[in-house]
Amino acid sequence: MGYSVLHRVFVFGWALMAVGGLTLAPAASEATSAASPSAPRTNHPVAPSSAPVAAAAASKPSAPPEINFEQQSLADQCALLSRSLKLPSKPLCTSLSTSQRLGFSMQRRNIFSVQSPREVAGSTAGAAAIRDVRVLVLGAIHGDELSAGWLALQWQSMKPPQVEGVSYSVLHVPLLNPDGLFHAKPSRTNGSGVDLNRNFPTPNWQVEANKWWVNTTKRDKRRWPGKVAASEIETRHVISLIKSFKPSVIVAIHAPLGVLDYDGAGMPPERIGSIWLDSVGIYPGSLGHYSSRTHGIPVLTVELPNALKVVSDVEAKRMWSDLFAWVKRYAQHDAATK
Ligand SMILES: [Zn+2]
Repeated sequence: MGYSVLHRVFVFGWALMAVGGLTLAPAASEATSAASPSAPRTNHPVAPSSAPVAAAAASKPSAPPEINFEQQSLADQCALLSRSLKLPSKPLCTSLSTSQRLGFSMQRRNIFSVQSPREVAGSTAGAAAIRDVRVLVLGAIHGDELSAGWLALQWQSMKPPQVEGVSYSVLHVPLLNPDGLFHAKPSRTNGSGVDLNRNFPTPNWQVEANKWWVNTTKRDKRRWPGKVAASEIETRHVISLIKSFKPSVIVAIHAPLGVLDYDGAGMPPERIGSIWLDSVGIYPGSLGHYSSRTHGIPVLTVELPNALKVVSDVEAKRMWSDLFAWVKRYAQHDAATK
């Protein structure tokens, strides 16, 4: 996908925002403000969008409040995201189940994971039952895709659907890139200016990732893959989870292309909610390429149609239900072919 196409998508996103009356600082503005690949960003506290105006109006501009990122809970991060999206934080942020700290981001913000209790339906007792299907759900790998983080939180707050004939567990990492998400202007890249979805150690990364960045993106700073594969702590958190949790499938939420993409063997879903299967291509350093090629674990990428407009709770539920209907079909197919 070339930059010009993505640029048009962002322009279209702007138009949608104008129609919808949204006033959030657009993710597109980050294209000109992304950190230099060679110069990591400084640590920026999160400020409400009105803060610059208020500071300018005051005779003595006060310094932004010190924020101890290390003490932020997932509910705190949810509230910050809801503020960025101009949504009421309640009830979603107060309904989130207990989370565990997966680790720090590059700028020492907390990254959380939540494991849903293993669902064991009564019907899984039969010989045909598919046991212990493990689903890893990742949101906000790109920090300027705010709706992707919100959908991950919506899904995390939902009770896992009962799926006849399957027992499964779900591990959520709803906000994988908090440095990008909570930057003063949300950025695709992480706190080091690296595109995490180009930083995974895919085959021949050292040659291919840089070649792709130079030749295809024309050195687009928003798509800087990093100096070496898995240079970023957020990338390494995911790699560790893949090895420890051993997911059967990975679901990664992005925006704003409005399609489903699929890397790996097996049968992809035709659609999840109102988003239909299409292909967005294969990239060096992407999670899908890495997981499917190196671990044989398929990655379903859900690209929401708008990075700043959240999915309704009704649509989120429908997507969640469709997702697990596909997980069942995938697991049955996988078991039958082994
Ligand atoms: Zn993305």
